[in-house]
Amino acid sequence: HVALPPFPFDNTFVRELPDFAIPWQPDPVPDPKLVYLNHELAAELDLPLAMLDEATCAALFTGQQLPAEAEPVAQAYAGHQFGGFAPVLGDGRALLWGEVVDRHGNRRDLMFKGSGPTPFSRGGDGKGALGAMLKEALYGEALHALGIPTTRALAVATTGEWVVRTHRHPGAILTRVAASHLRVGTFAFFAALGEREKLERLTRYALARHYPERVTDTAPPALALLEAVAEQHAHLVAQWMAVGFIHGVMNTDNMTISGESIDFGPCAFLEPFDPQTVFSSIDRFGRYAYREQPRIAQWNLARLAEALLPLLDPDPHTAVTLANRVLERFPALYEAAWLAAMRRKLGLTPDGDARTIAHDRALISDWLDLLATHAADFTAAFRALVRFSVGNDAPLRALIPDPELSRWLERWQHRVGLVPGQLNHALAERLAQANPWLIPRNEAVTAALSAAEAGSLTPFERLLVAIQNPFRENPAYADLARPSSPEFLAQFRTT
Ligand code: AMP
Ligand code: MG
Ligand code: MG
Repeated sequence: HVALPPFPFDNTFVRELPDFAIPWQPDPVPDPKLVYLNHELAAELDLPLAMLDEATCAALFTGQQLPAEAEPVAQAYAGHQFGGFAPVLGDGRALLWGEVVDRHGNRRDLMFKGSGPTPFSRGGDGKGALGAMLKEALYGEALHALGIPTTRALAVATTGEWVVRTHRHPGAILTRVAASHLRVGTFAFFAALGEREKLERLTRYALARHYPERVTDTAPPALALLEAVAEQHAHLVAQWMAVGFIHGVMNTDNMTISGESIDFGPCAFLEPFDPQTVFSSIDRFGRYAYREQPRIAQWNLARLAEALLPLLDPDPHTAVTLANRVLERFPALYEAAWLAAMRRKLGLTPDGDARTIAHDRALISDWLDLLATHAADFTAAFRALVRFSVGNDAPLRALIPDPELSRWLERWQHRVGLVPGQLNHALAERLAQANPWLIPRNEAVTAALSAAEAGSLTPFERLLVAIQNPFRENPAYADLARPSSPEFLAQFRTT
């Protein structure tokens, strides 16, 4: 082993909350190989990777050789999984191994995922499959490129082991970067144990780390935190809905305190617009279907509020009143974020008067009804408005037949000031910046991940490069932008 340079770690979590996690080491693995390194993210984090050779990088990102500054721990958390409370989950296959302050002054966690069993594994193997780890890397980059808060992959490395799920897969470890790995379930863990003092320390830590501007002498930190998390997730879920992203497993252990997307394992972008779309095969009742996501976010927030109750006010009735006030505000927060996002997508100015808002809501909802009625491709339909604005109505008419479309278009043109027969390049430009040309298409993703597991990384690498520029139409990637075939999509259900 070559000695590692110093890593600029500053591990506040293990230092300030030492009894919230268990010190643990990654498993030895037979044959570490680096398959993906996110150079842009490495630079943002100021990590001294440039001077490392490939073998050292592979040893580093499989946990075989850790910087002296690393302090790996498995974090404790609970979670409501598909509605049922599991009081002890925790990092069963992950280890937090360091924190850095990035070039923008933001503190970020580095976490291994798939580095072997921990005391939280409950019989699981603690490992990751290459396809699943690359999938997480791909969707993290896709969400990031779409401007949506998300955890991201710094690296993926194979271990030389096989991992058995329903089939056999090459083993791999993902190094994930997150604003933190504090989850709604982290609070539920200590609340369920009645660990009031720990809950208090956790709350103060989370507030100071993620929402320092909300630390006050007057309001209880728990209330400030609950409000902040509600606002962040109202915004986050609205952004998901606006691009057709389905998280797939919105359990409370998969909902961050920071407001970043995390643990989107069975995630997918919907293609034909059907609000009841479900992709996850384990989501048997459609709890986490596309259209359920805002309601589930609110339900998860209620679990956070529940955990924080004893800290909101010494009087239980007052505590419940305070919690409910935040929870009841969530639908309005979400609606406002969603309206803003959808108006942007349709090129509608964010005018504030009630009549315009009501008019825009109707325009948006009639458009979505059109997409649903004709099972039009969500991404392609919005994007077709770009072409329409510069005189080419063919892409749109291919997706949605007349005459309903023409009636809607008349209203829309009137609202955006598009004169029939005239080209509006400014509008087209606005629409092109709000509506991606390329999202990860399910069939292309499946093909890329299968090829990667079979030994060819080229399709994955190409797809990854393509999704990093989602708003720019690029004929070289036309095959990746094309909707998945109906035969491929037939394997997924709606509720
Ligand atoms: P997830 O649904 O993937 O977010 O994980 C839920 C819980 O199961 C967490 O406590 C994970 O650490 C744990 N877990 C998931 N996969 C494994 C695995 N292969 N081995 C051990 N624990 C796991
Ligand atoms: Mg999880
Ligand atoms: Mg997972």
